[in-house]
Amino acid sequence: MASAARKLPPVDVVLVGFGWTGAILGQELTDAGLNVLALERGGWRDTSTDFAVTFAQDELRYMWRHALFEEPARETLTFRNAPSETALPMRHLGSFLPATGVGGAGIHWNGQNWRFLPSDFVARSHNEQRYGKLSDDMTVQDWGVTYDELEPYYDKFEYLCGIAGKAGNLNGQIVAGGNPFEGARKRDYPNPPLDMVYAPTLFEAAARETGHKPFPCPAANMSRPYTNPLGVQLGPCTYCGFCEKFGCGNYSKSSPQTTIHPVLLRKKNFELRTECNVLRVLKDSAGKRATGVVYIDAQGNELEQPAEMVVLCAFAHHNPHLMMLSDIGKRYDPKTGEGVIGKNYAYQIVSGVDVFFDDKIMNPFVGAGALGVGIDEYNGDNFDHSGLGFIGGGYLACWQTNGRPIEYHPVPKDTPKWGGKWKAAVAKNYLTSLSISTHGAVMSHRNNYLDLDPTYRNAYGQPLLRLTFDYTDNEHKMSDYLTDRATDIAKAMKAREVHAKPRQGHYDIAPYQTTHNTGGAIMGTDPKTSAVNKFLQSWDLHNLFVMGTAVYPQNPGYNPTGTVGALTYWAAEAIKTQYLKNPGPLVQA
Ligand SMILES: Cc1cc2nc3c(=O)[nH]c(=O)nc-3n(C[C@H](O)[C@H](O)[C@H](O)COP(=O)(O)OP(=O)(O)OC[C@H]3O[C@@H](n4cnc5c(N)ncnc54)[C@H](O)[C@@H]3O)c2cc1C
Ligand code: SF4
Repeated sequence: MASAARKLPPVDVVLVGFGWTGAILGQELTDAGLNVLALERGGWRDTSTDFAVTFAQDELRYMWRHALFEEPARETLTFRNAPSETALPMRHLGSFLPATGVGGAGIHWNGQNWRFLPSDFVARSHNEQRYGKLSDDMTVQDWGVTYDELEPYYDKFEYLCGIAGKAGNLNGQIVAGGNPFEGARKRDYPNPPLDMVYAPTLFEAAARETGHKPFPCPAANMSRPYTNPLGVQLGPCTYCGFCEKFGCGNYSKSSPQTTIHPVLLRKKNFELRTECNVLRVLKDSAGKRATGVVYIDAQGNELEQPAEMVVLCAFAHHNPHLMMLSDIGKRYDPKTGEGVIGKNYAYQIVSGVDVFFDDKIMNPFVGAGALGVGIDEYNGDNFDHSGLGFIGGGYLACWQTNGRPIEYHPVPKDTPKWGGKWKAAVAKNYLTSLSISTHGAVMSHRNNYLDLDPTYRNAYGQPLLRLTFDYTDNEHKMSDYLTDRATDIAKAMKAREVHAKPRQGHYDIAPYQTTHNTGGAIMGTDPKTSAVNKFLQSWDLHNLFVMGTAVYPQNPGYNPTGTVGALTYWAAEAIKTQYLKNPGPLVQA
């Protein structure tokens, strides 16, 4: 595809997007001697200039007015629950909060940093072997990469970030106090767990009493001063409670800014251009190689950036969107089940159980994004699903992330939604309640997918991405099961009131749930059923790589970024040690 845009001098690698994956690849590929250019659609952001402790705690600005998030007036998506419906554009972000700007969502994430289970990577073959054939509508696939292959790269990301936690399985030996269900790890976390506040310790005691094995959840909030392998220092977390959806002014949450940028941005073979929105990837006339990208800069100039290699680092939605806009790969068609781009969009299903006490003061404002205790008995295939009517699962946890004045006001069941009685209930329960959350997987389904909207366009005149998604029976049954188990633990706390809030009905895109969107450019072993191979290399253009959660064939019951980091390091290693020596497909189709 040719371009009429003004042509710039070529680079070795162009990275589209400069969040977590862009920063890791920038660091790794410049180390390999390549000239790397990152194009980021949003503006410059750094801790000292943007997140000073004197104004980082502005809830209205960051949480409610979305200062760090994608601007729907420029780029958004349309949504419907089923292919038979007409999709409408999201004009205000809700269910998920994609980022815009240097650092991406790595700035305003919580830092809940998990590894997936070994069986998650072989979800189809494992479940079919144990429970029989999955239904034809369930388009679950194996990943093409195994936990054991990724283990060193999980480790690398955890040490980059200074994750605080306790190993539960060291080289196959179960370690008391850690997560006994995790895959074997070669060494412990780089930092000890965060000191625990009151609410999670109550959960821990009740979980133990009911026969579970609770453990401190792995956190990217520093439990002590930490210097990472790149020589960048982070400071200890102060439990300020303005963590998720905020930047950390304290250099205590790992983000691209606090772990990689101080090293990468000094390198002569790295360049970052901000406010540069990539519109499409260019291909050669044979359609076998990417030749660069076209982008619009802050002045509205359309520019062509030639490159030897293109890496999409633009978050879950935008990577498949750019592939569709660039006519790369065969688009998924839910009627025939053929095609791969847009296939297997998945999300997560969350629920909660609120617990109200009279005599226990939680001080919920003493919090951090990943401060909590969890259990993993009901995740993945850690339990026997025979007769339950679903596969998959999720973790249960009691987090204490914030008691922010606008966001946090727990009230018992049947409290009016406003007025004097509501105010009295907030005053009574604000300090003395906690919540147990469930964080459930979503298995892919043939009718959950991404494509281009036929009607609505973005600020650049391109078709918006259209999201078609709903929960299926599998998710509802699973989430009900998790909610019941959380209720069992809540009841063991002997509180005044336990209020279970199961997740019912259709998927609703309005309330915030998680920014754990997956699929659309999935990885696998066969170009007929996947967009990229096990090294995240496009099956169609060998010099195009796709990072981030778009490559997940389905969405396991954990937060995704630990695996995003591991896969990015894994792909970087394949590029450095295999692709650069012999450019071409790393896996033969
Ligand atoms: C509120 C919140 C809390 C979260 N908490 C957790 C958590 O606790 N644990 C966890 O595992 N995960 C969490 N996440 C998810 C986590 O932030 C993401 O998985 C991670 O940041 C993904 O990294 P990425 O590099 O793929 O994308 P991002 O970090 O989002 O970076 C993508 C970048 O690409 C840019 N971009 C997009 N399109 C273009 C274009 N066309 N041209 C140029 N640039 C473009 C964007 O502006 C953005 O800066 C959370 C997310 C949010 C929003
Ligand atoms: S809770 Fe800790 S890591 Fe999070 S923003 Fe506050 S100081 Fe930073």
